Amino acid sequence: CGIVGAVSKRDIVPLLIEGLQRLEYRGYDSCGVATFTNGELRRARSTERVSQLAETVKAEKLIGYTAIAHTRWATHGAPETQNAHPHFSAKGGSAPRFALVHNGIIENYETLRTRLQDKGYQFESQTDTEVIAHLVNDCYDSDLLEAVKLAVGQLKGAYAIAVFCRDEPHRIIVARDGSPLVVGLGDQESLLASDALALAGAAKQVMYLEDGDVADLQTEHIWIFDRSGQLVTRPQHPLLAHS
Ligand code: GLU
Repeated sequence: CGIVGAVSKRDIVPLLIEGLQRLEYRGYDSCGVATFTNGELRRARSTERVSQLAETVKAEKLIGYTAIAHTRWATHGAPETQNAHPHFSAKGGSAPRFALVHNGIIENYETLRTRLQDKGYQFESQTDTEVIAHLVNDCYDSDLLEAVKLAVGQLKGAYAIAVFCRDEPHRIIVARDGSPLVVGLGDQESLLASDALALAGAAKQVMYLEDGDVADLQTEHIWIFDRSGQLVTRPQHPLLAHS
């Protein structure tokens, strides 16, 4: 339903929570946030309101310069905590290596799920989304951008995704096809959201990604690639501060 994320030089979690709150009016059944904190991926998820998630985040001292957050409107899998995003991927009982949020529906998720299970990936949820996290993991060979490009090439359906990896923690890769996604630069930070409203006050300008686009967000740069892999620019739209 809603996505917000950022790569920054400050603790970005409060901004993401605020972003989720601005997206609350769209409705949701659960919410969550994942961060890179002290060398590991951590997350908090809730089937309550975003304000409840904010309490948990505070109590568990979930801070991070890189983080992604989500409000979910369940399509596959009941509105329960284990189905709430972000979804993690790890292999063979090791610590989580990838964190991913998704808006949309993956039509071929059952085929992908069977294939990934055969390869040893363990599923914790009933969502179509978790297959994307494991698929990115499976395509990963030291470069997250390349892994996401390979993974989305295998997806059928609609998606806006944001993903980061423990091995390259100062980078978030996003992709869209059929679901909205905007990216923008703030003050020494790169931001992304499913709706520009979530970024008001943090980004001065935003770029609307087009279907097939994949973008690489790092603290001070955003690179956008179109479906053919060509580096492209998208028009900048000024974003007024939120009153
Ligand atoms: N299909 C995904 C799920 O059910 C994403 C739903 C959404 O866009 O919030 O988890």
